[in-house]
Amino acid sequence: MHTKETKVFQAETKQVLDLMVHSVYTNKEIFLREIISNASDAIDKIRFKSLTDLELLEGDSDFQIFIEVDEGAKTLSITDNGIGMTYDDVVDNIGTIAKSGTKNFLAMLKEQESGSGEMDLIGQFGVGFYSSFMVAEKVELITKAPGEEHGVRWESAGDGSYTIENVEKEKRGTTITLTIREEFTDTDKPEENYLNRYTIQNLVRKYSDYIRYPIKMNFYQEITPKDDEGNPIEGASPEIEVNTRTMNSMVPLWARNKKDITSEEYFQFFKNQFHDWNEPAEIIHVKAEGIVEYTALLYIPSKAPYDFYSREYNKGIKLYSRHVFIMEDCKDLLPDHLKFVRGLVDSPDFSLNISREILQHGKQLKIIGKNLEKEIMKTLQNMLQDDRKKYEEFWEEFGKAIKGGIYMDYKNKEKLQDLLLFPSSRATEGMTTLAEYVSRMPDNQQEIYYVSGKDRASVERLPQMELLLEKGIEVLYFFDKIDEFVIDSVHEYTEKKFKSVSRGDLNLDEDTDETKEEEDTKEGKKDSEKLLEAIKENLQGKVTDVRLSNRLKSSAVCLVSSDSGISLTMEQILREANQPMGKATRILEINPTHEIYETLQKLYNTDASSSIFKDYCELLFEQASLIEGFDLENPVEFATRIANLMVAAQK
Ligand code: ADP
Repeated sequence: MHTKETKVFQAETKQVLDLMVHSVYTNKEIFLREIISNASDAIDKIRFKSLTDLELLEGDSDFQIFIEVDEGAKTLSITDNGIGMTYDDVVDNIGTIAKSGTKNFLAMLKEQESGSGEMDLIGQFGVGFYSSFMVAEKVELITKAPGEEHGVRWESAGDGSYTIENVEKEKRGTTITLTIREEFTDTDKPEENYLNRYTIQNLVRKYSDYIRYPIKMNFYQEITPKDDEGNPIEGASPEIEVNTRTMNSMVPLWARNKKDITSEEYFQFFKNQFHDWNEPAEIIHVKAEGIVEYTALLYIPSKAPYDFYSREYNKGIKLYSRHVFIMEDCKDLLPDHLKFVRGLVDSPDFSLNISREILQHGKQLKIIGKNLEKEIMKTLQNMLQDDRKKYEEFWEEFGKAIKGGIYMDYKNKEKLQDLLLFPSSRATEGMTTLAEYVSRMPDNQQEIYYVSGKDRASVERLPQMELLLEKGIEVLYFFDKIDEFVIDSVHEYTEKKFKSVSRGDLNLDEDTDETKEEEDTKEGKKDSEKLLEAIKENLQGKVTDVRLSNRLKSSAVCLVSSDSGISLTMEQILREANQPMGKATRILEINPTHEIYETLQKLYNTDASSSIFKDYCELLFEQASLIEGFDLENPVEFATRIANLMVAAQK
């Protein structure tokens, strides 16, 4: 038995509390939704547990949430007969925010400049309970877990500390009592008076109507006693009639008829269930009858949650059986590349008291998963076709997940390749699909060109791009680190291979023939071969080959890699990700039409072993590396070479 103790909040918890207490957030009324949602979750939990251990219920299976208003004490209390909490649970769940999400929550709040959007983050980060401090000067929580000997009382005024002690409590469950701040009791605006029963009723209907358990409240009415004929009895003091009302309709949204549901209702439900305050991009509501019977309500969000691309992100679909909750995040229902989809599936085929492991491997689940995947794919394809802007916004947020699907498993390629979007040299504003790119390819273009880089400006500055841009050959732009790896998996699209502008031979035939012809005179060819060989020798260990380029226009040199093996971009990415996989082959290409070529030839002919020729070779390689965004191995030597050159130029 713990006696009363005062404890201080963990530093981060205190920060969150301070934010709530001093909140300028206008939508303070959501505190009620948060508390009710916790109560409903707590009932879900006991209900689920009791399926395998009936004793737990201790005879009380009349699940409900009860709200009481006490005008005299200025309190609003919410009671549930859910799973309750043990002493340690309270310390863990309420006294500290152990969740890593909280840190991100605080970081993001600090980041946000405008006050308006700040609290949109509340539910998303699981700080729901603390939102009660937006309207309460004091919060008391009394709770008892089934089978525990004592209850627990926790209290805080939202300052730095809280008290906690064991107390006697007969029944399991939790009561949260808010002492409402004066500004929300003494107000001219009834919708902000949280001791007004009608206000509370409206809030329940607005935010918590779908909650599966009755949310009840007593309404009182003064009745003047009447005589047998129905006339008021004069002088008799009025009687109070108590009316217990269930305020929510309880029918889960997904069980209702699609055509009777407004988009506002779908949106509210989404907010409530998935703590996402942005209107979803798509809603998929399907009922299936046949081999398997189920109803699914799925949402494609419009914004990726803050942790979407981290390990912490919890993917999964909620499972219900005949409206009864069975499982929070069923991970196996949908493939990883659709992990952005939120939603639920309700199927009478899910047996209630089956273990989660068996359920997750069940046949029904597989069939349902496959069907839903098809629905989602269809929705995405339609979005791409019918509402390009919306699809591009979706792609911004979740495109990486789709790309990941192809990269992780090439078998997904057929399914997913038509959903891919890339910026390109042609589409300066929007993006292009592979099909659109191919449809624009001139007949003599055999391959789909791409280039990797940081952004449009930096790839368009690349020497390798100059000629392609001039010829008007469309090039896909890969700004995402994963892009090259994805395209490696796609390998070819409608029999057209992908070709990096920085790899192998570009096959830019006809136009360059002129320069080739000039070079191809026997003598000339021999000369250039010797020169290239000499440069290669000077760059031993740094490049695997030195050759004349047909992809350069005004630039002197560029670095490319061979057609096989990893590319230069891949090498950089893997090294940054601390997974070095060796080096890409480096081929130095020299522009034979650039003046530097003549200079090199002169130097070579004068004295191939001179230090100046050697320096020039190094400098060519170093500048080509810099253009590709590589760090120089020895920047000091590079600088010395440049300095020497500057001095020589002025002599
Ligand atoms: P969230 O609900 O997002 O996890 P909260 O801050 O609202 O975050 O609640 C923290 C935790 O406290 C909950 O996860 C739950 O374990 C516990 N809790 C809150 N309210 C109740 C309740 N009425 N009954 C049982 N546990 C509760």
